[in-house]
Amino acid sequence: MCAAAPFGPCRKCRGFGFEMETDRKGQLKRGKNCRRCKASGRRIRIGRWIFNRAQRLYREGTR
Ligand SMILES: [Zn+2]
Repeated sequence: MCAAAPFGPCRKCRGFGFEMETDRKGQLKRGKNCRRCKASGRRIRIGRWIFNRAQRLYREGTR
């Protein structure tokens, strides 16, 4: 699940790390670096974030 794959491809750039733009001819060309994933093409999944938090709470609770 999310623990096995904590990162997913960025939805905005689909993992490329940059946005795709089309020129006047309709051809795809490389746009700006994606700001959502900081050009890495990956985004941490929200599931992983919750998992991290839950694990910490669990550890503190059992201590
Ligand atoms: Zn992106």
